[in-house]
Amino acid sequence: MADLHKLAIMLQELDDQMVACMKCGMCQAVCPVFAETMNESDVTRGKIALLENLAHEMIADAQGVKEKLNKCLLCGSCAANCPSGVQIMDIFLKGRVIVNGYLGLSPVKKAIFRGMLTKPTLFNALLSFGGKFQGLFTSKVDDLLGSSCSKIMSPLIGDRHFLTLAEKPFRKIASGLDTAPGKSGLKVAFFPGCVVDKMLPHVGEAVLKVMKHHGVGVFLPKGQACCGIPTLSSGDRESFDKLVKLNVKAFRKGKYDALITPCATCTATIKEMWPKFAENYPAELKADVLAMAEKAMDVSQFLVDKVGVKTVDSPTGGTRVTYHDPCHLVKSLGVSAQPRTVLGACKDYDFVEMSEANRCCGNGGTFNLHHYEVSKKIGQRKRDNVVASKADVVATSCPACMMQLTDTLSRNGDRIAVRHAVEIYAESLD
Ligand code: SF4
Ligand code: SF4
Repeated sequence: MADLHKLAIMLQELDDQMVACMKCGMCQAVCPVFAETMNESDVTRGKIALLENLAHEMIADAQGVKEKLNKCLLCGSCAANCPSGVQIMDIFLKGRVIVNGYLGLSPVKKAIFRGMLTKPTLFNALLSFGGKFQGLFTSKVDDLLGSSCSKIMSPLIGDRHFLTLAEKPFRKIASGLDTAPGKSGLKVAFFPGCVVDKMLPHVGEAVLKVMKHHGVGVFLPKGQACCGIPTLSSGDRESFDKLVKLNVKAFRKGKYDALITPCATCTATIKEMWPKFAENYPAELKADVLAMAEKAMDVSQFLVDKVGVKTVDSPTGGTRVTYHDPCHLVKSLGVSAQPRTVLGACKDYDFVEMSEANRCCGNGGTFNLHHYEVSKKIGQRKRDNVVASKADVVATSCPACMMQLTDTLSRNGDRIAVRHAVEIYAESLD
């Protein structure tokens, strides 16, 4: 049963935030979804018009409102281009929480979020179990990209080329690590995020190698959980709060200078969304959330801003590498120079800029699941830009972008590797 009093308060908060929108339409020019669908209800101005009448719209067609709100990558391109500084991501997420509070969570999402994701021990055990049998249902497509496809017809997977679960998740390699600061005098807490833990453990290992090289201590506590963005973007505030609390509990035990992640989405969620949704938390929890948010940063940002990694002169004729800016780093946090500096510090690599490097790749988390055909078209434009750069490798700083780039390059049969910037840097230290 919906808590109508709570919903009314949230609707009022939403109204207060939306008055800043002048309906200028400048968000339209940068929306990757609108560029494909040309549908006003898919862009921010259309969604804000919907949200302004949310109470009436929900009574008339709550499911329709939910579908319209969910047709969005949450990429933040509109927010970064809004002359009025409308807190668009905040408004969209609160709108989803309100609609979900009214409609209730679907049984599938309830089972996944409340039955598994918020119980990390069970969630990890289930995925480890699934990983053992995934070979029965998947076949390798491309060794360079590490992509696979489904052996069975599945509407959920379709013709995707995807990354499979790793044989050994990152937490089994390094969880519980707690090393003292070395020559740098710095110590980081390390939040690898779900995709690095379960699919890309080599990215986590690269981070550890780089920290060791620079004499940075690492605190990698057991008991870490998802950052919460899949639950929040599905409007499930209850699961989001649980995940934040689990992470605070895990990291509370350590002392560290920065909280680093190799995942742009985790960084933006911890840094921006946790504090925004912590207002009504008990004082001690709120203080811990704000402290973690303050210290959260992307791994390349840490290497450049805190450790002092610099671009080096390297002989030309090396491997050509280009860089894709994840939306949650460049648009949400303004981080774009540091990953390029880290790549510039890699001997034997020549950096080449691609066109539209900061244009969304089209993944958008659950958007990719529900709107794969639109996601593919947005991804194709990114792929065309990568190919036109003539790079041998495309680097980025977000595991979700790595999944999307892998899918689109693999389906096109391109011989271009997808790597995390920190992986390339770690290799260059050999
Ligand atoms: S750019 Fe900002 S002010 Fe203009 S319509 Fe979009 S959200 Fe509103
Ligand atoms: S967040 Fe991205 S996809 Fe959603 S409305 Fe804004 S620009 Fe469009």
